[in-house]
Amino acid sequence: MIYKATEENIAKAGKILKNGGVVAIPTETVYGLAANALDKKAVAKIFAAKGRPADNPLIVHITDAKDIEKYAYPNEKAAALAKKFWPGPLTMILPKKDCIPDIVSAGLDTVAIRCPSHPVARAIINAAGVPLAAPSANISGKPSATTAKHVLKDFGENIDAVIDGGTCDCGVESTVVTVATEPPVLLRPGFVTPEQLREILPDLKIAEAVTKELPAGAKALSPGMKHKHYAPKADVTLLNGTFEQFKAYVDAHMDQNPSCLCFTGEAEKLGVPCVEYGREGDGADQAKHIFRSLRALDEQGDGIVYARCPQKDGLSMAVYNRLIRAAAFRVIDL
Ligand code: AMP
Ligand code: MG
Repeated sequence: MIYKATEENIAKAGKILKNGGVVAIPTETVYGLAANALDKKAVAKIFAAKGRPADNPLIVHITDAKDIEKYAYPNEKAAALAKKFWPGPLTMILPKKDCIPDIVSAGLDTVAIRCPSHPVARAIINAAGVPLAAPSANISGKPSATTAKHVLKDFGENIDAVIDGGTCDCGVESTVVTVATEPPVLLRPGFVTPEQLREILPDLKIAEAVTKELPAGAKALSPGMKHKHYAPKADVTLLNGTFEQFKAYVDAHMDQNPSCLCFTGEAEKLGVPCVEYGREGDGADQAKHIFRSLRALDEQGDGIVYARCPQKDGLSMAVYNRLIRAAAFRVIDL
């Protein structure tokens, strides 16, 4: 079921994908659950395996920025973004061409496109000879997968193969930006930060739903924003403050038998079961470990969890965005 990323297995994965199968592939962000983006029956298998709501569109993966115009109508901003950030962890939303089936775009007239940098992802797309639609390889609503084992845990034998490319470097899903609107809008923070994007898109707006809960009935700029996300079984609450304030809060709630999601080196000082999710102030380290940590919480059961709050800017914005969803938007300012 899990296959090493050898040349032979990459060729096999390409064949399975070309023939309408579903294969989990490593990328630099998280593992993706891939199928031929031009084959609506194959794409339907992704939605079924994940239990993904039909109104949540998929990202189309290509290996050459020149291919954008096969599937979408590019503009100058898209070209500039591709030049600076591709191949890499950035997804752009553009007006779509008719060859992209409605199931991929969830009926929208736009399509999300990304050109990954991971050598195995690129080799598999090239072996398949078709663009690959690939959402994150996790059961819908659960933490994304950053190792082949995590993918297997979610899908077992329900998909055709998992290609093992080791642990993902970034650890959080791609940055999503729409250049189909004026001004362009950041829809999901990721490894490419708003500060970096503003070098190309000085008028970039950040969608409110990136760091806040959408009001009931509000229309999401990106459908993924409104769905339940990254939720472990535990009841997570983010505590915004210093370590000393955090510890005092946890100490005052010992009757709840809480666990903690904390920064590296803090576990031993807290005296309760802990999962450490990265170094304080180091967004890249936190991003790399956040989903493994949320999955580790799942192994611990469904109790009360207090989580240290990361910074909200730079790369940590991506981590904060995932954590507030894992915490169902429960944040307490200490
Ligand atoms: P995932 O594939 O799990 O990383 O999720 C892809 C994200 O991209 C979801 O949040 C989608 O809502 C978003 N997305 C994909 N296509 C579009 C689109 N055409 N317009 C806006 N957001 C999109
Ligand atoms: Mg996802």
